[in-house]
Amino acid sequence: ATPTALMVGTGRGAQLGILIKGPEVLESTRRVDTVVLDKTGTITTGRMTLQEVHVAEGTDERELLRLAGALEHASEHPVARAVAAGAEERVGPLPSAEHFENVPGRGVRGRVEGREVAVGRLYDDLPEELARARSEAESGGRTAVVVGWDGTARGVVAVADAIKDTSAEAVRQLRALGLTPVLLTGDNRAVADSVAAAVGIAPGDVIAEVLPEDKVAVVRRLQGEGRSVAMVGDGVNDAAALATADLGLAMGTGTDAAIEASDLTLVRGDLRVAADAIRLSRKTLSTIK
Ligand code: ADP
Ligand code: MG
Repeated sequence: ATPTALMVGTGRGAQLGILIKGPEVLESTRRVDTVVLDKTGTITTGRMTLQEVHVAEGTDERELLRLAGALEHASEHPVARAVAAGAEERVGPLPSAEHFENVPGRGVRGRVEGREVAVGRLYDDLPEELARARSEAESGGRTAVVVGWDGTARGVVAVADAIKDTSAEAVRQLRALGLTPVLLTGDNRAVADSVAAAVGIAPGDVIAEVLPEDKVAVVRRLQGEGRSVAMVGDGVNDAAALATADLGLAMGTGTDAAIEASDLTLVRGDLRVAADAIRLSRKTLSTIK
């Protein structure tokens, strides 16, 4: 590839809303045959809202919301924002949390009003009524997190966000380019399956409940199968996998960590532009030969 043609490709990329780290990036784009897509914030808007609250017998719903909301207020996670905003809307101003601790891919812990509160996937044992509430929410495509304090799970709150209206079209375009789309998420399997079905990703290509540090291992495993992997993500938890992929694409609407780890940035956060990027690099490189 001549430098001039690559520069032209880079300029055209900017017009399409693609920021390219360096012209050489276009070369690796050409070989890609698999595209790994993060769920929250990539296929979905990432703007979650609180949908349901279930409390165990004997637990006060307002108290549960106050404690969960206070703790989640200290986290940037999309689930946390939804819980904090929904709690504040329902119960008013929230107290503050101390000893806040983020457990990546699992949830948050901390002290609120003298109680040791946890929100997320941090309890092994759930009373049956809560386990049922959780699985019903999840089979409806919602993300359910458990709220508890002082060692006991006391409620389940469910949040959900919308699939971007461009995602199904983007998956169709990626397929038309001969790429296999794979969904990779830390969220639970039922939610992942329902999002995959809605955008046209095959059930066998859904990888769910993956801890942030294991996303890299998934990319490496696919590479080990001889695949050339592009990864699209937006979160801090995607950064290492974006750097490991043969081609990393960040959502411009995402975190700085994801953008810094990537080769390309999709400025407007429109997944269809991932297909444009691959089309552009193929065209740029074929006119050069
Ligand atoms: P994704 O891969 O979809 O971006 P993450 O790896 O960030 O998801 O999170 C995976 C799961 O961990 C969430 O679906 C949620 O169940 C739980 N989780 C993570 N952070 C929090 C939080 N701050 N509060 C509650 N649950 C959380
Ligand atoms: Mg994400």
